[in-house]
Amino acid sequence: MATVFTRIINGEIPCYKVAEDENYFAFLDINPLTKGHTLVVPKVENDYIFNLDDRTYSGLMLFAKRVAAAIEAAVPCKRIGVAVMGMEVPHTHVHLIPINKEGDMVISNPKLKLSDEEMRQTAAMIAEKMK
Ligand code: AMP
Repeated sequence: MATVFTRIINGEIPCYKVAEDENYFAFLDINPLTKGHTLVVPKVENDYIFNLDDRTYSGLMLFAKRVAAAIEAAVPCKRIGVAVMGMEVPHTHVHLIPINKEGDMVISNPKLKLSDEEMRQTAAMIAEKMK
């Protein structure tokens, strides 16, 4: 059965899309730690980032680098933190999290409650900076 992220990529489940190319896809995390918290995924399903082939792995990181620059340009923050856990969704995803201090990246922090409109606007601002 397809993962929830494959279903997002295929347009079967809605998301706040930020960027896409032939092999990779980026969208806002639905439970953001901070405003602009984005997930970057390869279109190919693989549960564990270090099981990706070298080409997919390096392509994912290069795509994430572009997305991180766009987030940084769109959302006021000191830098973009990077995390890969994959304890919940068995489809490799890189968390890109705008942070101002170390504590902003603690995964057990309470999640932000942003409105649908705020999520839409945030995704659109980041997408604009990808151009
Ligand atoms: P983890 O697998 O531990 O890296 O966590 C999975 C992340 O995916 C969590 O931060 C969730 O909030 C996020 N997530 C799960 N389902 C969705 C979805 N449908 N749209 C956006 N983000 C999601």
